[in-house]
Amino acid sequence: MTQIAQITGGASRPSKGWLKPMFPITGKAHYFNQEKEFAAITAQGRAYFWRSICGIDTVSTDKMPMFEPGNWDRCKKCELKLARRAAA
Ligand SMILES: [Zn+2]
Repeated sequence: MTQIAQITGGASRPSKGWLKPMFPITGKAHYFNQEKEFAAITAQGRAYFWRSICGIDTVSTDKMPMFEPGNWDRCKKCELKLARRAAA
């Protein structure tokens, strides 16, 4: 029996790219852009707001960082949009 674990890479701090948010635990890696103008200081530390090019919003903090996508499945919608951008 073959078991394939999906493993993220280390904590990551680029301002855009393929990333896996800590929440939800399941799901896919999306292509996120950081919304820098909305960075905030919260009880969890510095918070960063992100929006994926397929429209998903998420927040990362110093304690719940974004992760490199490792071998997580990549969102098909984001892949399509990226392909269209590259073609434009
Ligand atoms: Zn996506």
